[in-house]
Formats: sequence, structure tokens, C-alpha cells
Amino acid sequence: MSRIRQWVRPNIAALTAYSTARDEYNGPLGIFLDANESPYANGYNRYPDPHQGQLKSRIGALKGIPVENLFLGNGSDEAIDLVFRIFCTPGEDNAVIISPSYGMYGVAAAINDVPVRPVRLNDDFSLDTDKLAGACDGNTKVIFLCSPNNPSGNAFPRTQLLDICDNFPGIVIVDEAYVDFSSQGSLAGEAIKRDNLIVLQTLSKARAMAGLRIGIAIANAEIIGLMTRVKYPYNLSRIAMEKAMELLQNPIDNQVETIIQERRRLAVALPDFPFVRQVFPSDANFLLVRVDGADVLYKYLLRRGIIVRNRSRVPGCAECLRLTVGLPAENDALLNALETYLP
Ligand code: PMP
Repeated sequence: MSRIRQWVRPNIAALTAYSTARDEYNGPLGIFLDANESPYANGYNRYPDPHQGQLKSRIGALKGIPVENLFLGNGSDEAIDLVFRIFCTPGEDNAVIISPSYGMYGVAAAINDVPVRPVRLNDDFSLDTDKLAGACDGNTKVIFLCSPNNPSGNAFPRTQLLDICDNFPGIVIVDEAYVDFSSQGSLAGEAIKRDNLIVLQTLSKARAMAGLRIGIAIANAEIIGLMTRVKYPYNLSRIAMEKAMELLQNPIDNQVETIIQERRRLAVALPDFPFVRQVFPSDANFLLVRVDGADVLYKYLLRRGIIVRNRSRVPGCAECLRLTVGLPAENDALLNALETYLP
């Protein structure tokens, strides 16, 4: 029996997945009297492909990942929720997360009645592997890691992440939502070789499609099979998949390059302001900045029509604002507003 099989909740292992009408026949031609749809064509009267064949092939080709190693969800948030639903028995199993990190891990855990054990990152947001291991017990089914991490922006060393996968007898999620902005590279190639690593990516960030809600999980075929069985049958809409196919034709290299250059420009300019205490190094499309009086500065920027994220109540992020890197003119506007700020 594979290790994965031992980690899966018994009810999920025993699940008979919903079989859609289109599982039986998915050809383009025919008289479709099987799915209780309206016969009146308007482009959207038919259900979308539950297997997302076309979009998966396109994303697989772009990333060099075989289709059987790909799951597509309604944002990577769907994949996060599915991991809890598949591997964690409510009230019994727990998950270890890093802190600070992306808030949805904790929220999805709470919704699924799965206690989380937060492991504080060091003051420089590096990760102490021994502390992480110390937080796990026999009921820890999943460890959530995020690299580059939100909100700190730093990526963890590849060897450290793989070391955690090697040593933890359960599922390790590495959320790579911001990987396109990082020089560290992706662990996607490792995820398809290993039995316990799930890499999450998304079309929401560098690919500029947050409004379409398309997230990606990359893992071995057995885990992908479980996620596919548990997801809602038609979790991606026809319109989202069509639009993604169209937008994936646009190269994004120049946009990513500009964002990285702009991140560098902001990281150099910001420390000159007397109220900026620290700009944390970032591998993502945002900068975490520690200032004097984060709440007051946040409200000042709001009054100037500039909306940033106040993270000052997040553990380890006292007096910190998270600034997303915008267009060059938007970053100029931010710097101009800071020029005229009187704390
Ligand atoms: N992971 C991280 C680390 C994020 O910061 C976000 C969004 N802010 C997501 C996942 C969610 O991405 P999606 O839009 O694909 O649900």
C-alpha cells in the first residue's frame, strides 16, 4: 500500500466520485439529451468540461508538467481547502503552518475543524527546520509552507524545503503563488517525483488573471487523482477556461521583468524616508516594510487614494505595511505621496 493511501481520510479513500453526464460522452457533435441543460445555444448553455482537458494541456505544456500531475481549481484557495478535506479528519488530525504566512491556510483549517500549529519564523523570516519538526506529532497530516512567503516576501532555500519533504511522513504543501518573481526556481519538477509534495501555483499573480480564479496544484498522479475526485465536478467555468486559453497566449516575461526592476527601485528608494525602518528582502511582487506608525501611514495613504495592506497586527510584522509593486507610474505616485508625508 502506498504511503499516500495511509494518509487519506477513510471516507475519502472509500468515496465513489460523482460521475457527470459528460464523463460518458464528451464529443463535440451529437444530440445532447443527457445533462438536463437548455438546448437553446448562447455559448454557455452547456456544462464545461469537468476534466478541463484543453486548459490542462496548455498549462502542462507551458510548465513542462504532464497532465496527470496537474489539478486545476477555483483559485489555489480551492486546492488549499481540498488538502484539508482529503487528508485531515476533523477534530482528530492537525496541520502545521508557518507564521506569519498566507491567512487562508488557517481559515481553511478552521472551516474544516482542523487545529493548526503555527510555527513562528525567525525575526528575519527565515525558517527553523527543527522548530517545525518539533511542532509535528503523530496526528500532523500536513505541513503548509509558502515560498516566496506572503507577507514576508522571502523564499526559503530549496534544499531546506526538500529536506522537510524527505523527513516528514505526511503531506508537504509548498505554495508557490509568487514563484515567477523569484530567482529560486520552482519545486514543481520535484513534486511529480515524490509522493508527499504538493506544489501550488496560480494564474492570479504573474499571469495577471486573478479575476478568473484559476489555481494549479502539481503533485504525483495519485494525489492529483484524489483532488480530482473530491472537487466539484464543474469547478472551473467555461468562460474562465476560455478566457485563460486566450490570455495564456500573451507572453508575460516583460511584465515580470518590469515588476522585478520596480521592486528593486522601491527597495532602494524606501529606506531614504526617515520613517522607514526596514525593507525586507523580497522574491515576490510586494515588499514588506517596517515603518514608524504603520496605522497612521496606512490611513494617510488611503486618504491619498493609495491602498496598501496593513499587516501590523500579524505575528512578527509589528508596524509593517505590505506594498504590492504596481505600474511604474503607480510606484511613482506612492513615492510622491511618501515625500509629502509628515509623521
Ligand atoms: N497563495 C498565496 C501565498 C497567496 O498570497 C494567495 C493570494 N493572495 C493565494 C495563494 C490565492 O491565490 P488564488 O487567487 O489562486 O486563490
